[in-house]
Amino acid sequence: MNLTGKQIIGFQTKAAGQRHFQGVQAVTGEVLPQEFVEATADEAQEALTKASSAFKIYRNISDTERAAFLNGIAEEILAIGDDLIKTACSESGLPEARITGERGRTIGQIQAFANFISNPAWKREIIDEAMPERQPLPKPRLVQKQIPLGATVVFGASNFPLAFSVAGGDTLSALAAGCPVVFKAHPAHPNTCELVGQAIQKAAQKTGMPDGTFSLLHAQGHEIGGFLVSNPLTKAVAFTGSYRGGKALFDLAVRREIPIPVYSEMGSINPVYLFSDRINTQGEALADAFSQSICLGVGQFCTNPGLLVILEKDRNFLTGLAAKLDQMPLGTFLTAGIKQAFEHGFNNLNNHPATKRLTASDNPAPSLFSTSVHDALAHPEVLEEVFGPCTVAVVCKDLSEMIAFTEQLPGQLTATIQAEKSDLAHLDELIDEVSQKVGRILLNGFPTGVEVSPAMVHGGPFPATTDARSTSVGTEAIYRFTRPVCWQNF
Ligand code: NAP
Repeated sequence: MNLTGKQIIGFQTKAAGQRHFQGVQAVTGEVLPQEFVEATADEAQEALTKASSAFKIYRNISDTERAAFLNGIAEEILAIGDDLIKTACSESGLPEARITGERGRTIGQIQAFANFISNPAWKREIIDEAMPERQPLPKPRLVQKQIPLGATVVFGASNFPLAFSVAGGDTLSALAAGCPVVFKAHPAHPNTCELVGQAIQKAAQKTGMPDGTFSLLHAQGHEIGGFLVSNPLTKAVAFTGSYRGGKALFDLAVRREIPIPVYSEMGSINPVYLFSDRINTQGEALADAFSQSICLGVGQFCTNPGLLVILEKDRNFLTGLAAKLDQMPLGTFLTAGIKQAFEHGFNNLNNHPATKRLTASDNPAPSLFSTSVHDALAHPEVLEEVFGPCTVAVVCKDLSEMIAFTEQLPGQLTATIQAEKSDLAHLDELIDEVSQKVGRILLNGFPTGVEVSPAMVHGGPFPATTDARSTSVGTEAIYRFTRPVCWQNF
């Protein structure tokens, strides 16, 4: 393992900055030895300038060569071997099995993009044949094709140090589309970021990509990220992370003289609707599965079920679920900051007059709170995402109140309906309303776990994302970084 702590700028490494920081071992809090130098504005400018120059060549490289580059990235990541697993486990506190699985998902995702662009159909060519004899005017031949947008800035989240980070879906979909990427490394896992960044740099060199196709900048704090988003050379932005970060960067982009698309994929509370016959047929198994989903990965998933919507007559289910959660350990958070934010969120709910705690612990722990529709709507802060294993149950008097509540919900990544056929017979109106709020609607499953597949939509109306017309997971993600051009009479 040969870490440098420097910026990767195309085929070079640089470290002119004066500010340093180090990664932290999540479980022990121990500071890791490698020092990272924060990028300077000049280095960020250089990365974008190189990306813009590289774009002129990269956008004309054949799909086959670009696919070879992507497959090369997968090979180089696998070649890092155990060092990558150990480093990501150490910085995130996530268990080895989870990180090994996440590496598998990352590799699968890269290969899926390579395969996708290997079929020319990906450009979605639309051909309208000419009609020279048409009266009163002849019709010209029209061909519509997708072309890449240009230098793209990508921000990754802390909770997926591989799959939503340096070689995650955002970077790969932009590279697959033909856009060079400048990646802002997440300060929660800088060592992991550099290892993967080196792999992309090596793959770019080995497969003959232009210098500047990929750069990686380290920084703690918001300055460099803001600089990149505001820079006129940046043509698109992809962000995965908190609402605060995603909205701040979106707002910054709105103030640019020349607007660009900003795909901020942010948090969500992912409502789960539970119905009587399902509760009765599944019994304890449902409470068990629900508690596992709430606590998976210490609740640090954007798809974590943070909201349960239930009818008053089924309220007893909550007692069983609370008992299950009381038995679950809390686990290690990704960072001290996320732990602190969870404690803050727990305390806010615990002390809020509109909520009642159903789990036993008066201290931050896997927890369940309940509230009424009236109180949830009067105090929308009780429905803010608490990143961690914490769920609020909204108890509805009847189905009409449930539908009325759903109408008031902000946009979500997912919603889940837990219902038997007999329940579903009454739920058409509710499901229609739910579909207006989400990017993905599940029946009898749990939202944690996102299949990487062409039909997947990992997105949703604001505030889940800043552009509900797109997905950040699956091959459709590529179209965030292309635009249509029509060739007339060529
Ligand atoms: P985060 O704190 O927002 O950080 C994400 C990245 O954005 C970091 O590199 C961060 O750099 C940067 N950043 C944040 N605010 C910024 C600002 N105002 N200006 C410039 N840069 C800024 O997110 P996180 O804690 O890593 O992730 C947890 C959140 O991500 C949760 O809310 C979770 O639900 C969400 N998430 C969403 C998805 C999805 O697909 N929708 C997937 C995973 C996670 P600095 O730390 O240096 O500022």
